Amino acid sequence: MTNEVLLRTVKLRRTFGGLAANDRVSIELKRGEVHALLGPNGAGKSTLINLLSGDIPATSGEVFYCGRDITKLTPHERSLIGIGRSYQKTNIFPGFTVRENVRLAAQSREPRAARIFSDAAAFGPYCEVVDEALHLVRLAGVADRKASELSHGQQRQLELGIVLATKPRVLLLDEPLAGMGHEESLKMIELLRGLVASHAILLVEHDMDAVFAIADVLTVMVNGVVLITGTPQEIRASREVREAYLGA
Ligand code: ADP
Ligand code: MG
Repeated sequence: MTNEVLLRTVKLRRTFGGLAANDRVSIELKRGEVHALLGPNGAGKSTLINLLSGDIPATSGEVFYCGRDITKLTPHERSLIGIGRSYQKTNIFPGFTVRENVRLAAQSREPRAARIFSDAAAFGPYCEVVDEALHLVRLAGVADRKASELSHGQQRQLELGIVLATKPRVLLLDEPLAGMGHEESLKMIELLRGLVASHAILLVEHDMDAVFAIADVLTVMVNGVVLITGTPQEIRASREVREAYLGA
């Protein structure tokens, strides 16, 4: 089933002081779709990602995952049920190998085994998960290198591998192409397209060419509210988007 709604928000609102960083945000994320969030700086894109991951609580409104209300769940609980988000580099241990980094993430999902043997993950049920994640992010060939030795692009691939090791169904990615060169971006886009059949992906991205190359659905936010949701063709054709965002 490719059109299954995995994540849905209903009139999500988050205020900071007097400012509504998100207001009346109702969006759907479907399995098999890359959904891109667009909008000028300060539009509320990162706030929405944070509300979906649980990193910040909503002021009002609801978040549903597979039909269940998860508005009150913690980030860890959301991660356990299949909502994965990347944290730019902050969750990479530079002195550890690529494989160890991915293994630690797999272990965080099932910490009990680690209490039996500290290195249980080396021969436990995670091996498969770890190998699969390394393969999906094309890092199997450098699995035994230290994370610090990776290129910038490879480190971004590792961040994604760390999320994939938690076996998510939903991927929340805030600017996964940031700071990447053209070749690195293309590689990451190809990698994400390869993941989409089995996942729902919500990503924030500024580069219009990249967005149109990667997204099935786009939502444009301005001043905390959703201006429009549509296909790349619909967004391109929208006069209000051009006026409000593209500046044309
Ligand atoms: P975007 O990611 O689209 O650039 P953000 O979601 O980061 O936008 O920010 C939306 C608005 O909310 C901005 O005006 C920003 O200053 C404000 N904001 C975001 N996070 C905080 C915070 N932790 N405290 C206060 N204001 C915040
Ligand atoms: Mg942001």
